[in-house]
Formats: sequence, structure tokens, C-alpha cells
Amino acid sequence: MKPLVESRLPTKFGGFRILAFESDVKEMPHLVLLASNFVPAKQIGVPVRVHSECMTGDVFGSSRCDCGEQLAVSMSQLSEDGGVLIYLRQEGRGIGLVEKLRAYNLQDEGQDTYEANVNLGHPEDGRSFSSAIEILRYLKVSSIRLMTNNPEKVGAFDDVHDITVVERMPLEVGLDPENEGYLEAKRLVKGHFFKR
Ligand SMILES: [Zn+2]
Repeated sequence: MKPLVESRLPTKFGGFRILAFESDVKEMPHLVLLASNFVPAKQIGVPVRVHSECMTGDVFGSSRCDCGEQLAVSMSQLSEDGGVLIYLRQEGRGIGLVEKLRAYNLQDEGQDTYEANVNLGHPEDGRSFSSAIEILRYLKVSSIRLMTNNPEKVGAFDDVHDITVVERMPLEVGLDPENEGYLEAKRLVKGHFFKR
């Protein structure tokens, strides 16, 4: 996997290089932000955030989920620590934006985020992290500290013998009365690590 393009991207969180990689949808490449102090090959424990697109949270600051806050906090931390943000274009855990908005309506009727996806005919979680793994290989990153609360994301690296997760860095931000139930479902259904 090779980038389609690489450019400079100064942000309010710090300086980055931005790289675009082909995804399933031509107009929506996966994006990688490399902190300007990122040192690639052979470094132990490169900080990495693998973030799946959430337009409502990332762009509009929705408090239905914790995505926007997780993205902001991880960007400032990655910029400080020379890390890598991998932004995967799998909106709504892979079901797409329209279906995610439909799921919001079911959630407002009392279903949790996973039930709602299933009742719309989708898997609980349709995400794949294989592109992230290929991108890390391209970057020659073989040892990472993964910023996540999600054990399945750590587990995605279980069978990946050339990339080691040396540490999980918690990312417990974005708590809001609006997303209490959502975060509780993540904890109960998927075993996400949250202090209560
Ligand atoms: Zn979200």
C-alpha cells in the first residue's frame, strides 16, 4: 500500500504531514497524519490512534458519541509524542452515514448502538482494521502504543506478527449526559475499558 499523495498539514493541534491512501471508495481515501516529530523505522512504542470516521462527532461535535473528543485529544497527544493518526473511512462502524442516522432514531426509542445496527440488518460492528495494519507496514512502524479503550482494536493485532502492541493508552474523554448510555453499551457489550 502506497500513498496517493503526501502534503504538509499545520493544525491547531500541531504540525503534521498528511498522506492519503486508497480506500474502497475513490473519493474517500484513508488519511494518515504523521506528527512532524514522527521518527519512523525501528522506534519502540510509536503512539498510534486508529480512528474510524464519524462525521457527526468529528466535524459537528455531536455529543451522541465520544468520537470528536477522542480525535481532538489524540491529535494533540500524537503531535507532542511524534505519533501517527490513521483515519479510516468506515463511518458508523462500517454501515455508512445514512444508516447510522437511522440507527440514531432506533437508539432514541431505547435500543443500544449495537442492537440498532443489527435491527437495520447490519453487523454489530462491521469495521476492519486491515488497512491500518497495511499502512503501518508501509510506514515501517513495528512497535506501537495504541490509543484506544476498545479491546477488539487491540485484538486486531493479535495475529499480526510484524507489529507489536507494547501498550494500550486509554482515551477516556468526551463523557456527556447525552452519551452515557452509548458508552455504557460499549462497556457492557464490547468490554470497552472505562473507569466508572
Ligand atoms: Zn461517533
